[in-house]
Amino acid sequence: MDWRNRASCLNIPTNIFFPGTDKQTDKRYWDTHTMCRKCPVNVDCLADALNNNYEIGLFCMPERVRRRFKAKPPKNLFITMRETFTTLDIIAAEFNKDGSLLRKRCLRCNRKSKGFPKDFQNWGGRSHICVSCHIAISNNKQADKLLDREKPSKALPEFDSHGQLITKKCTKCWERKEADQFSKRPQGIGGKTSWCKACTRKNLEQWVARQKSVE
Ligand code: SF4
Ligand SMILES: [Zn+2]
Ligand SMILES: [Zn+2]
Repeated sequence: MDWRNRASCLNIPTNIFFPGTDKQTDKRYWDTHTMCRKCPVNVDCLADALNNNYEIGLFCMPERVRRRFKAKPPKNLFITMRETFTTLDIIAAEFNKDGSLLRKRCLRCNRKSKGFPKDFQNWGGRSHICVSCHIAISNNKQADKLLDREKPSKALPEFDSHGQLITKKCTKCWERKEADQFSKRPQGIGGKTSWCKACTRKNLEQWVARQKSVE
């Protein structure tokens, strides 16, 4: 049986994948990503897109992701698929009742924000970088490079209205902890290390123990 017969988008008009062609809300556009993510044949669809120069297949992929795949075809389609869609969890978009975007996570500053410029080439029909970040890097010569960088953090930090870190996940034990459970590190998210104090201590103790056993 042709994989297309098992596609989640079977019998769905393809224009839902292309915002701007119809009355398209942010929510509706977002839903297409969710549909492709759960689609049982998304790997076949990606393979087809690769074989057909991206003219067809995997409609929900933002243009920039397609460009990246085109420049460097993925080696393992399953892993690529999983990693690509993991970004959706991190962005965690929320919507208003009318389908417009309420807030999502900025992939540069990692804050949940309400202000994102329109950008139909990106997840949810909005830029993945918030307005404040756009302004912050607008004078930077490397701005284009920065805008093209998609490095979501799995630490899922929460900030207060003053931009101070409240909690984030330790990237060693993956527990969500209060900001004071992390040591200072200016380059880190929220000005803190990515490992919590307990994990850092444990790691140090293990290192000392290993050194002693060598002696
Ligand atoms: S992954 Fe491909 S086949 Fe599946 S819903 Fe998305 S566009 Fe359709
Ligand atoms: Zn930002
Ligand atoms: Zn930890």
